[in-house]
Amino acid sequence: MKLISIQEAYQRKFKRQKAIKKLIYDASGHCAHIGKLSPGCYHCFVPDLSSRNFYSGNKCNLNCTYCNSDKNQGSNLTAKEHLATKASLFKQQALSNNFRPTAMSFSGGGEPLLYLDVISSYMKVLRDIERRSGHKPWYYLYTNGILADSKVLAQLKKIGFDEIRFHLGASNFSKVVYNNLKKAVHYLKVVTVETPAWQLHRKKLFAMLPLIEDIGVKHLNIGEIELNKYNYERISKIMPHGEIYQCYETHLYDGGLVYDIIEEVIRKKYSYSVLDCNCFVKSIQRSPAKRTRHEDVPGLCAKY
Ligand code: SF4
Repeated sequence: MKLISIQEAYQRKFKRQKAIKKLIYDASGHCAHIGKLSPGCYHCFVPDLSSRNFYSGNKCNLNCTYCNSDKNQGSNLTAKEHLATKASLFKQQALSNNFRPTAMSFSGGGEPLLYLDVISSYMKVLRDIERRSGHKPWYYLYTNGILADSKVLAQLKKIGFDEIRFHLGASNFSKVVYNNLKKAVHYLKVVTVETPAWQLHRKKLFAMLPLIEDIGVKHLNIGEIELNKYNYERISKIMPHGEIYQCYETHLYDGGLVYDIIEEVIRKKYSYSVLDCNCFVKSIQRSPAKRTRHEDVPGLCAKY
């Protein structure tokens, strides 16, 4: 693969952004989007040190080419033990500090719904903190969607989740997952699709746009693939001429795919928001820059 300069990568992005007149910029330009974002995205752009993303475990029932997690590390039991320890430490911390998280989420280097029992125990702790502190964060969970059937969705609702985010590309946009996506809108307040700008999915991504409009998806987040030692070899075999650049992480340049999608959503007047969840977002979300308070974030997210 070819490493391109940060100037080259950014200039290409800025050129595409400039051509989309309806693009909205928040967090001093780090957040480029159309429509109001999910409340779960808010904490990425503000100095919110109370919000957390909990890694549930690294087992997965799929095997994406671009997956960048180490599947050989740890076991289910370790994940359970690890979470249990973290939960109790977190509870002590939360109840002793000025604790005002805007969001609590579950993702990880694996499929969170394989760890539903662990997540349920964790949610009990979080809901208990919520009752004692009188402050309710937005609860959301990521999934590849394979296991998100009616029974699981009903349980997620029961234990307090507000939102579920489907990674449709993981199953190559399978019928099973589309069916589960349809069911999800009847259980959760908000259903989001968050799937990567993987150029090999281009056709399926475009075919997805009218389908998710009809289903009632509220938000679409598209980010670039992040490369590390676990996926570099696999991706470079498939895309020997792929271009990569370094920002806070190392990203596979998407060839402008996210802007092509945003232009199509504007053209077709679809109602969901689209977030360009690329290197600028990861940079503000993960770096010490997160402590900077930008002026323009209060109206960033939809209210539910
Ligand atoms: S669904 Fe997620 S965790 Fe599973 S293989 Fe794909 S990218 Fe990795």
